[in-house]
Amino acid sequence: MPISRTNSKEKFLMSLCGEQQKRQPRHAFSTVPKCDMLLNNLCEVFNSKLITARDKSLLTMCEMIRRYLMTRIVKNREAMNKVSGPLCPRIQNKLNINKIESRDSKNDLLDGNRFEVTYKGKQYIVDIAAKKCACYKWDLTCISCKHAVSVITHKKHIPEDYVDDYFKVETYHRVYPHLILPTNGEELWPMGAGNKVMPPDMRKQPAQTSTVGSKKKKVERRNKKYNAGASTSHHSSMTQENVSSQRSVASGTRRSVAQRAGTGISGASGTPRSDAEVSGRQ
Ligand SMILES: [Zn+2]
Repeated sequence: MPISRTNSKEKFLMSLCGEQQKRQPRHAFSTVPKCDMLLNNLCEVFNSKLITARDKSLLTMCEMIRRYLMTRIVKNREAMNKVSGPLCPRIQNKLNINKIESRDSKNDLLDGNRFEVTYKGKQYIVDIAAKKCACYKWDLTCISCKHAVSVITHKKHIPEDYVDDYFKVETYHRVYPHLILPTNGEELWPMGAGNKVMPPDMRKQPAQTSTVGSKKKKVERRNKKYNAGASTSHHSSMTQENVSSQRSVASGTRRSVAQRAGTGISGASGTPRSDAEVSGRQ
């Protein structure tokens, strides 16, 4: 049975959160990966970049992937060098949105680290020491949610300090310290020390019985034979017609001669002569 896209998606969700939680899985996600993505879009993006290289030969495909990664790493590094804050740009944008939305919330202190936050009529418990919020977004992504930002600013702390190290520029530079170095073309590669790699010996293949070429030749032979037979039969029929027409002409000639002899018909016009004309000539 072919695996549909829906089945593969359900399997992916079940691998994340188990059989019982496949309907609303985000609240059952593990907090270890620091990721709340429901769909596997990372693979889709990478696949769309490689779609032009997939139908190429192996060496050409690897060369296209190497060139793409080489330029992408350099572009991202240059973009990261321009960032002034501690967070990566997209994470900083998410945090800025939470900062704006946190202005509508109201905080009530429970104890030193726990707060009850009211936002649009709903209440959430926020623990800034454990970095947890009842909405589960802070637990899941380690990016401070709007309830957490409200509490953090209430305590006059900096919200960026409560974001996990995964999303910091310093971590990015630690993960991508190396570059994919450029390479020369194939003509400038050094010669290897081993034996020269040669193509395999040509071997005569066994005769093919049902190929297109043999079928074509078979059809041509049959047409040629048919045409030859048709022309022969046509010629023979034409000959028979000629013979029959010649026979009819000959019989007609004999009949006209006999009529002339018996009835006195003469001349090309075939008009009968009178007895006076006959007797007069005699
Ligand atoms: Zn929250």
